[in-house]
Amino acid sequence: MSLLNVNQLSVHFGDGKAPFKAVDRISYSVNKGEVLGIVGESGSGKSVSSLAIMGLIDYPGRVSAEALSFDGVDLLSLNEKQKRKIVGADVSMIFQDPMTSLNPCYTVGYQIMEALKAHQGGSKKERRERTVELLKLVGIPAPESRLDVYPHQLSGGMSQRVMIAMAIACKPRLLIADEPTTALDVTIQAQIVDLLLTLQKQENMALILITHDLALVAEAAHRIIVMYAGQVVEEGRAEEIFKRPKHPYTQALLRSLPEFAEGKSRLQSLQGVVPGKYDRPQGCLLNPRCPYATEHCRRVEPDLIQLGEGKVKCHTPLNAQGEPSNV
Ligand code: SF4
Ligand code: MG
Repeated sequence: MSLLNVNQLSVHFGDGKAPFKAVDRISYSVNKGEVLGIVGESGSGKSVSSLAIMGLIDYPGRVSAEALSFDGVDLLSLNEKQKRKIVGADVSMIFQDPMTSLNPCYTVGYQIMEALKAHQGGSKKERRERTVELLKLVGIPAPESRLDVYPHQLSGGMSQRVMIAMAIACKPRLLIADEPTTALDVTIQAQIVDLLLTLQKQENMALILITHDLALVAEAAHRIIVMYAGQVVEEGRAEEIFKRPKHPYTQALLRSLPEFAEGKSRLQSLQGVVPGKYDRPQGCLLNPRCPYATEHCRRVEPDLIQLGEGKVKCHTPLNAQGEPSNV
């Protein structure tokens, strides 16, 4: 049984006949100890879908799903108290910008100890010891001396380490990391990803790594799902996605990476942006930006179909040569 099971999850905003579909019927699962990469440009619904899993979508957002379960427990049917037992403890999340997620008014030690208190209890002394242990685990030097510092006294990289310490405080079985390195310098980015992967292995924790940067998940993830405009457009084993992308959008994301663009023109990357509420095209949502779009694509939305071991949502998935083919 998979640890997290997401089946036909949608998140709509706004009322009336045409609500904005920020997430549109996405399905995926994450197994115990697995690293899943969720990739897409900003506006593709990556964060919103994770917030929905965490139960963090407020009105006017509406969440619906055929199934949304963690370790067999239906997350949508839980009341607040039951949900708090799972979310924040068994399932935990870290966000892009540590500075907006940490409370500037409280010390680092206090914030971690509060997280421990909320979910695990124990004596004050035990919580303090565990906090020092956690700071050490995430590579913060002289952890005892950091307990009483405030978030603004830390660098971006150190703050993100504190966020990670807080997120893993209750030994989650699933950690969702939403663009965990975007706000950081390049050298620090690699360290944070390494840290996440080390912790993931040590604790045999499942990890969902959300990013716009396909290169980041290249080696880290076992499987990848690619999202565009709220939909899953491709899913597969990481290696397969990198070697043989089957969706034009995945191909374009790959071609925009310097290491893949070698010898090819970077101009092959997609022009334009993900459509918003008012400019959703008919048919395939990628069609205005897709170099392979046909009349058929402009009229009819493709289904997400199984192809080999993966899935792809395109009328003419790309073949091994990277060219459109009819299936
Ligand atoms: Fe491009 Fe058509 Fe495939 Fe959409 S269905 S990705 S427009 S080729
Ligand atoms: Mg986001």
